[in-house]
Amino acid sequence: MPRSCVPCGWEPGDESRRGTVSNLDRHPTETLLDAGRHATEPERLTAREVPLGGPRAMLVRRTLPQRQRSMVGAWCFVDHYGPHDLTGRASASGMRVPPHPHLGLQTVSWLLDGEVLHRDSLGNQQLIQPGQLNLMTAGRGISHSEETPAVHSPGIHGVQLWVALPDTARWGAPAFHHHASLPAVEADGLRAIVIMGSFAGVTSPAHIASPLVGAELRLSSGHGVQLPVDSTFEHAVLAVSGTTTVEGVDAGVGELIYLGPGRSTIHVATETEPEAIVLLLGGVPFSEDLVMWWNFVGRTHDEIAQARSDWMDTDRFGSVRGYSGQPLPAPAMPTTRITPRRRR
Ligand code: MN
Repeated sequence: MPRSCVPCGWEPGDESRRGTVSNLDRHPTETLLDAGRHATEPERLTAREVPLGGPRAMLVRRTLPQRQRSMVGAWCFVDHYGPHDLTGRASASGMRVPPHPHLGLQTVSWLLDGEVLHRDSLGNQQLIQPGQLNLMTAGRGISHSEETPAVHSPGIHGVQLWVALPDTARWGAPAFHHHASLPAVEADGLRAIVIMGSFAGVTSPAHIASPLVGAELRLSSGHGVQLPVDSTFEHAVLAVSGTTTVEGVDAGVGELIYLGPGRSTIHVATETEPEAIVLLLGGVPFSEDLVMWWNFVGRTHDEIAQARSDWMDTDRFGSVRGYSGQPLPAPAMPTTRITPRRRR
């Protein structure tokens, strides 16, 4: 039985504090990710609020992974935060995520407001702003920090998404790319930015390792739009601003509407003035079993346990220069061992 945690107040059995994989979570559980059932009807997934950590933690809305559904294509982690006001004293610290490792995934950082400063163990230091993409491919191992810069806008609003790397790519060299501008698609009532993959015939330059799509869509009030999508993909629409109706199902801020494969269009509409903003995420249902724990995506418990001990005891994940503060220590591994099961 794990003991209680003095710094954060967690007690054994306090499931409300056991977020799955928050970067700063002191007691993450090990999670098996699988592709789940293919729902024929739209499925509404509500968010859990998870503190990102620290004494004045920024709350994030987490819609993936969850018990009901752990992945959408290769997308395996969806955190939505803000809009938060950073002008008041109580919340002036904004985002502050100390150096921590990643394995077997890509991190996709996307903002609607504000700035985030990224530093990584490859020596990159990169500020991102709305409309820009910070894409970090962890491959066999990398570490990074993310923080609100000293000089910043009054607000912050954004998402952090993870993409699981397929077996063919997951031991590759770590890499980081900043995309300062991305291609857009305009149609009546719709303005889309193609973040990853292709949408409406327009392709993002960002590197992907399996067939997937990620796009920011701005929907004008009073318009209904049929989004053209790849029918071999499963999709999810995340409402990030305003209320959107997705295939007849209302999605409020932070909610994710899942749509199974076999559709060539997705109908979206909003009455929110002047516009609603959603993210379209999709991909071919992921065919490999994954084990996710803390900031690692692997295939077995032993791989994850090795990564944990390597972060604590070796320089496998490198080090981040310039962050004022200590790297994040890894939490203790859970006492129960998880075994991936075969996909249906
Ligand atoms: Mn991270």
